[in-house]
Formats: sequence, C-alpha cells, structure tokens
Amino acid sequence: MKIICVVGARPNFIKIAPLMRSFSRLTSFETLLVHTGQHYDARLSDIFFAQLGIRAPDVELSVPPATQTAQTAEIMRRFEAVLEAEQPQGVLVVGDVNSTVACALAAAKFRLADPFAWSGGRRSRPVIIHVEAGLRSFDDDMPEEINRKVTDVLSDLLFVSEPQGLINLAREGVPEERMHFVGNVMIDTLLAARREALGSGMLEKLGLLGREYGLVTLHRPGNVDDPQTLKTLIETLDSVAARLPLVFPVHPRTRKRLEEAGLAFPKGRWTLMEPVGYLEFLALQSGARLVLTDSGGVQEETTALGVPCITLRENTERPCTVSQGTNRIAGTSRETILGAFDLALAEGAGKGGVRMPALWDGHAAERVVKVLSASFDATVGATVNGARRWIA
Ligand code: UDP
Repeated sequence: MKIICVVGARPNFIKIAPLMRSFSRLTSFETLLVHTGQHYDARLSDIFFAQLGIRAPDVELSVPPATQTAQTAEIMRRFEAVLEAEQPQGVLVVGDVNSTVACALAAAKFRLADPFAWSGGRRSRPVIIHVEAGLRSFDDDMPEEINRKVTDVLSDLLFVSEPQGLINLAREGVPEERMHFVGNVMIDTLLAARREALGSGMLEKLGLLGREYGLVTLHRPGNVDDPQTLKTLIETLDSVAARLPLVFPVHPRTRKRLEEAGLAFPKGRWTLMEPVGYLEFLALQSGARLVLTDSGGVQEETTALGVPCITLRENTERPCTVSQGTNRIAGTSRETILGAFDLALAEGAGKGGVRMPALWDGHAAERVVKVLSASFDATVGATVNGARRWIA
C-alpha cells in the first residue's frame, strides 16, 4: 500500500510528525512524504523537521509564493506529476492549508494505471484521507474554511479531532462509515514533546523564568492584511502589554504588514522576535499567564496545556476549546478583547468546566493508522520485479 503524505505549511509539520512515526512501525505501508514548499522559510519549515524528527521529504515541489488561487493551481500541477510517477493507492492530507485542498483535488481527478480493490469495489483513483476533517468556522471569508469544505467533500476517509466535526460532516451528508473520531494528532505531538520543550532553555534565554507574561501570535489575513484592523489590534494589545508584558514571535506575513503600517512596540512591555521553533514555542506557551492568538492550532495547544487563551477572531472552528477548554473568543474590537483579558486574568485556567477533550491523549495518529490498516486489509501488497504492486 503506497500512501503519499502531503505537507506544506507550519501547522502541517506538527500534525504529520506522529502520523509518519505510526506509519514507520508497520511494514504494510510504503509512505512517500511530499513537501509542497508553501512554507519554505527555514523558521517555518526546516526547524520542525529537525525538532520533531520528521524524515526529509522524498519530494519537494518548491512552489513559489503566489496568490491563493495561483498557489493552489501550481501545487495541483506539480503534484499531478508526482501522482503519475508514483501511482499511490492513497493520498493523506492534513489540516486546512492550500496544499491540503490542492493535493486532495489533484488526487480526486487522477486515474491510476492499475486500479485496485478497495472497500468492496474497484478503485481507479487514490483513496483520499483527510486528517483533521469536519472543522467548520462557518465563515467563508477565511481561505481555510474553503479549503476545509472542499477537502472534506473529496475525501474518502475523514479523521475527526473533536465530536462537533462529526456533527458538521453528518449535516453535510457525509456517510457515517467514512468518518472516524480519532482525537487530535497535534496534541500527540505536544504530549510527546512537552518534556523536551520545558528543557529548551527558552524562558531562561529571554529572562522570563518566574515572570508573568502574555504570548501573542497573529497571522490570519483577516487580521493583518487590512492596515486599520491591524492598527486597532496592535493598539489594543499594547494596552494589554501595559499591564502584562507581551512576547510576540512575528510571522513573516505579519512582519511585512507591521512594517508597512509603521506601528510601534515600546520596549519594556513588548518582546518581538522572529518565529521560533516548536519546542521553544511550546515552552513559551507553557510558561505564559495567557496567550492571545488568531491561530487554530494554538487554541488547541493552550487547552491541552491548561493555559488561558484569548482568540482574536469572531469565531472558531474548534468549539471544544471553548466548551471544555481554556479558550475565549474575543473578536477583534478593543472592548471585547480587553473584556476577555480581564476575565481571563481573574479566572485563569479555572474557567468553568475545563477538561482535556476526548481522545486528546497522545494516540490519535495510532488510531488513524489502525483504521487505514483495516480499511486496506482486503488489498494485499507484494513486490513484483522490484516494484511495489497491488494484487486484489
Ligand atoms: N508555532 C511555532 N512557532 C511560532 C508560532 C507557532 O512553532 O513562533 C506553532 C504552534 O505551536 C502550533 C503551530 O505553530 O503548533 C500553529 O501554526 P499556525 O498558527 O501557523 O497555523 P494554524 O494553526 O493557525 O493553522
């Protein structure tokens, strides 16, 4: 069974790490790791391979930066050539970035030279596997929401990280047998790396040990691309910083916008830096009094760590981080953000009903691979003349 696993952007690397580890324990799967190059910066890509022990990609598509549409199209074009050369029985995509939807769509349109037996029938296209399926913000202005919906429509096996995902997919007509609630692969990585992160020396290096600080991340186009929205957000965060010093690893997209807007970050209450590695960021999250973010993954990680989170968006596609976790959806206005900050400071992680969401236990990737093993059981892999072939 040959499965192509696709990664392209920072959150993908964190999700793929435990999946590659689980695949590597089985001989029945031959995996090929394809990196689209959507994030190519060493601080957003290489460091995660090194820190999380992900093997070097087998194929690098090296797509150049471009608009949403041009980048999606270019990934599809380059990925089609990989499908042609490799003839995989499965394509596994994670998350909700352009690489996710582009590779799922290319796989959906691809015809294999040798169809194979799958799920009681004859399969002439690669089976499309989506890990982190079913999340919905119900906000089509987010490019990620479009990516999520299209990827899920195309997917044959949908692996879901929280129960609401099952409800969303059922409402969209996805048959029950395609959905599998397995837990959260991002939390697999967090639990596996937590101890090492605490030993990373990051807090010592920044002089933060034993000190109270808040941690900020900001990179969603809806927050950073419009100068007025960005200005309001930064001015509001500066009022927060006057009460709680803020550490801000700045995403390259955001840095560019901040420079264009000429916004000031008074020293003493702000510590700005380049994006940091996973271990360093996990150390910063673990030690923070609270986190202010528009990241999807960070909402989940703060819930798993029990650190209060203020989400600088009007909605979340990860509702269990609010209903069970430490997350507060604060929106992007000054009043609502400062209100959420006061509440979070007063209540801390002791916000009512906080508990670890179901199956966020470090074993989600194992469950995914177990389901895949069972799903492809009817198909027998064999090596014919040195080439991997499939006999139904
Ligand atoms: N992260 C990191 N370094 C940073 C900021 C974030 O390693 O400087 C990690 C973070 O722990 C999380 C992931 O990047 O695992 C989130 O990625 P991002 O916010 O880019 O994407 P999203 O989750 O919003 O799709």
